[in-house]
Amino acid sequence: MKDPVCGTEVMPGQEEAEMQYQGQTYHFCSRECRDLFAKNPGEYLKAAQRQ
Ligand SMILES: [Zn+2]
Repeated sequence: MKDPVCGTEVMPGQEEAEMQYQGQTYHFCSRECRDLFAKNPGEYLKAAQRQ
């Protein structure tokens, strides 16, 4: 599981935060990352797909 905001690998069960978006659950290394994602999910998903 990769944090879509900062790209950190997040171990299952060790994530600090998660969020449902369009039927998918995303995991984040921190609440800060989740908050950033929540503000602009489309941008981060686009960036993540490019990798
Ligand atoms: Zn992060």
